[in-house]
Amino acid sequence: MSLEDKISKQVRSIPRSGIRDFFELVVGRNDVISLGVGEPDFSTPWHIREAAIYSLERGETSYTSNLGLEKLRRSIAGYVAGHFEVSYDPACEILVTVGVSEGLDLACRALLNPGDEFIYHEPCYVSYAPSVTLAYGVPVPVPARVEDGFVVKAEEIEKRISPRTRVLMLNFPTNPTGGVMGREELQRIAELCIANDIIVITDEIYSELVYDEDYRHVSIASLPGMRERTILLHGFSKAFAMTGFRLGYSCAPPEITEAMMKIHQYSMLCAPITSQVAALEALENGASAVASMRRDYKRRRDFIVREFNNMGLPCHVPGGAFYAFPEIRSSGMSSSEFATGLLESQNVAAVPGDAFGASGEGFLRCCYATDIELIKRALEGFRQFLASLKG
Ligand code: PLP
Repeated sequence: MSLEDKISKQVRSIPRSGIRDFFELVVGRNDVISLGVGEPDFSTPWHIREAAIYSLERGETSYTSNLGLEKLRRSIAGYVAGHFEVSYDPACEILVTVGVSEGLDLACRALLNPGDEFIYHEPCYVSYAPSVTLAYGVPVPVPARVEDGFVVKAEEIEKRISPRTRVLMLNFPTNPTGGVMGREELQRIAELCIANDIIVITDEIYSELVYDEDYRHVSIASLPGMRERTILLHGFSKAFAMTGFRLGYSCAPPEITEAMMKIHQYSMLCAPITSQVAALEALENGASAVASMRRDYKRRRDFIVREFNNMGLPCHVPGGAFYAFPEIRSSGMSSSEFATGLLESQNVAAVPGDAFGASGEGFLRCCYATDIELIKRALEGFRQFLASLKG
């Protein structure tokens, strides 16, 4: 008997994450300088950890309502109204999830019928296409190009719309490119969605982490006619450095929230209460910690981008998130060959761009949510590696 045959076709059809595959090469090597993992190098701010500790001390160890603690949902509604300029009713339009990861899975399962098409821009976060496949949908990638600052164009989306198109996925600022989207292009995309009756899922997980004075983040949910056809996903992992708390939320019209909640109540029941209490503290008192981490990321961004460009690896300036995405084509190597060579010869790890979809080929993702001294040592490794290719 082959157990492989017992695994469902859907699961067999999805690849393992390219990030994970690459990091299996890293395991077992000593002293690797890693720009690989996409998470803050900061610990969760102390007052947030303390809130979690006090909650445990008070013996708050029960389930919560399926939707999440009411006072947390009320606080999320206030935060979202201020940050994104769009209002949601905490009683029936906000669902607290186990990270944006769960929100994405719920949204796909709530919306997709077998064969429905799901358009997303690429290179992108590794979960999108597999989440669609697991929900029996059909992922349809649209390339976002470096020439356009990795912003997906409305006309490129339009070319991929078919009678089966059900959902458009957006993620700005983008993992892995740091691309950000201006209001005008977003407006064109919104009009396209309204004209073609498409639902939008927008992953806003990096929306606090934008760096340029003249840029203001806009969520598509806040544009006219979009609130009623958008699922806004957000969470605490990145801006509040809370990856291990596994907490996020979705904001969507009541019918969609109810559909997502039905799946959530059978699969997850509720998000962990300790994390919910910590998240409440993050929203109520975390703004200055976020601002301070953002200032640090900006310094690191400016430094790493300048250094890549100086060493002859063209690097677009990422407007947000915490990833640099330098182009390595001039080396004559593929992304994988470059990343493997860099790791083997310099002990520096960065993720090959094709881990984020075929249109990421020719680039490397370098996470700069890393101590500046380590970034400097990693960049020295890049320099030596490039010199060895010439020599
Ligand atoms: N969305 C994007 C774009 C991400 O980069 C990540 C993590 O890297 C996630 C979602 C996962 O978020 P969470 O930790 O809230 O599940």
